[in-house]
Amino acid sequence: MTGEKRYLDLAKFFLDVRGYGDEYSQNHKKVTEQNEVVGHAVRACYMYSAMADVAALTGADSYVSALKNLWNEVIAGKVYITGGIGSAGSNEGFTEAYDLPNFSAYCETCSSIAFALWNQRMFQLTGDAQYIDVLERTLYNALNAGLALKGDHFFYPNPLESRKNMERTPWFSCACCPPNMARFFTSLPGYIYAKRENTVYVNLFATSETTVKNVNSIGQTVPVTISQNANFP
Ligand SMILES: [Zn+2]
Repeated sequence: MTGEKRYLDLAKFFLDVRGYGDEYSQNHKKVTEQNEVVGHAVRACYMYSAMADVAALTGADSYVSALKNLWNEVIAGKVYITGGIGSAGSNEGFTEAYDLPNFSAYCETCSSIAFALWNQRMFQLTGDAQYIDVLERTLYNALNAGLALKGDHFFYPNPLESRKNMERTPWFSCACCPPNMARFFTSLPGYIYAKRENTVYVNLFATSETTVKNVNSIGQTVPVTISQNANFP
């Protein structure tokens, strides 16, 4: 926001100081040596998002290669068909690969938001659509499930199976998810389109309109308006 390098340096310090603690807080190895997603799922994806931001601003290739390893590992065996992550309630997070029970699935709403934040940044780093495919799956099938259609009841865990023992509630004593939903949905317009030089990316099929400035074949900057009509909620 400010362009002041000291904030970026401090952010990088908080990442590079890791490597002496536990898996729960992704402090078990240097971040550049981490190649398995472990511990608390929300903390994990917030940290990976920070790594992507720092890499974007500093060109830290060691961060990018670690992030690609982590992403491949989570996609290979630690993500539900809904795009939800973090199967265990005991650590609000990851267990071993392929441990994806339906009835006891944790899939905290905040972890879906955190996974979307991380995937958006991986897309912004690379321009690769595979990250948007995952973001879209998580958005519509895991993240959205945390909010009732009326907008006033919430899930904290999002199990894939229920024996009439799970209903959304108006609030929780640990109320991280409802305000996180408010933050995420108000930022959603920023996820629909992207632009790099003269390439425009249409990432989500949502009713929307945007205008981008492109340079035409004779070097003039011209506005290009894109609009979409869709019946997604
Ligand atoms: Zn939460």
